[in-house]
Amino acid sequence: MSTCNLCPRKCGVDRAIKEGFCRVKDKVVISLSCLHKWEEPCIVGSNGSGTIFFSGCNLKCCYCQNYEISSCSNGKVYDTQQLVELFKEIEKSGATNINLVTPTHFIKQLIDAFEVYKPNIPIVYNSSGYESVKSLKLIDKYIDVYLVDFKYYDNELAFDLSKAKDYREVAISAIEFMCNSKVDVFENDILKQGVIIRHLILPNHIYNSFQVLNCIKEKFCNRLISLMAQYVPMGKAKGMKDLNRKTTKKEYEKVVDKFLSLDLNGFIQEMESADICYIPNFKS
Ligand code: SF4
Repeated sequence: MSTCNLCPRKCGVDRAIKEGFCRVKDKVVISLSCLHKWEEPCIVGSNGSGTIFFSGCNLKCCYCQNYEISSCSNGKVYDTQQLVELFKEIEKSGATNINLVTPTHFIKQLIDAFEVYKPNIPIVYNSSGYESVKSLKLIDKYIDVYLVDFKYYDNELAFDLSKAKDYREVAISAIEFMCNSKVDVFENDILKQGVIIRHLILPNHIYNSFQVLNCIKEKFCNRLISLMAQYVPMGKAKGMKDLNRKTTKKEYEKVVDKFLSLDLNGFIQEMESADICYIPNFKS
C-alpha cells in the first residue's frame, strides 16, 4: 500500500482505493483538453496554449472559476500511453505549449508519461501555489514554465475561502523553489522557460491583494507578475455575501495603482476580462 502525501494536505490515504482531499483516486482524470487563448500573451502565442484541465484539486477555493472540474472527479480516465498520445496530439495541433492545469495530485502519473515521451514544446505547470517543494522537486526536470498563483497573504482568508490555513508560507516556499529553478527565457516573445506569478483580485478583499503585492515586491520583485481581474462569481461564491459580485472599478483601480506604485513587471488584465465567456466550457 502506498499512501499519498504529495501535497501539503498530507492526507495519507491509499489512492488505489480511496480519494483524498483532492477527490480523485490514482487514475488520471482529464475534464477538458483544448487550445486556450485567454492566458498571458507570452503563454498563448499565435496558436493558443494546449491546455489540459485535470479533474480534482487539492485547494478547492469556494469561488473556483473552474468549479465544475475542481469539485468533482468527472472526466475521461487516461493511462500513461494515452497521456503520451495526448501530448503528441497537442504538439501536432501547433499549440505554443502544453499547459497542465492543477496537476499537483497527478505528479507521479505525469512523470511516468514524461519518462516515455518528453514533448518538444514547453511544459507549463499551472498551479494554485499550494504545493509541496518535495513533490515539485520530483517533476521539476520535466517542467519549463511555472504559472503559479499567489492567492493569499492573509491566512485567515485562505482558510475561509480555500481551507488552507498555511497557504501563505506554503505558497512562498513553492514560489521560491520555482524562481530558483527557472530563469526567464523568451524566444520571439514566447516564454520558453521561466516563472509567472499570478494574483487574482477578489471583490471585498483588496487589502489581501495589497499584502500579496508587497510580499512579491519584497521577495520576487525581478520576476514576471500577472495581475488578474477576471473574477466572476461561480459555484458556491454565488451565494456568498462578499463574493457574489464582480470586482468594482474602484477596487480594480486601487490594486492596479498599488501594482504600478511598486514598479512590478508583467501583465495587468483588463476589467473586461471578468466575463463568463472567457471561462472554458467544461460541458462541451
Ligand atoms: S494529492 Fe490529494 S490525496 Fe494526496 S495529499 Fe494532496 S489532497 Fe491528499
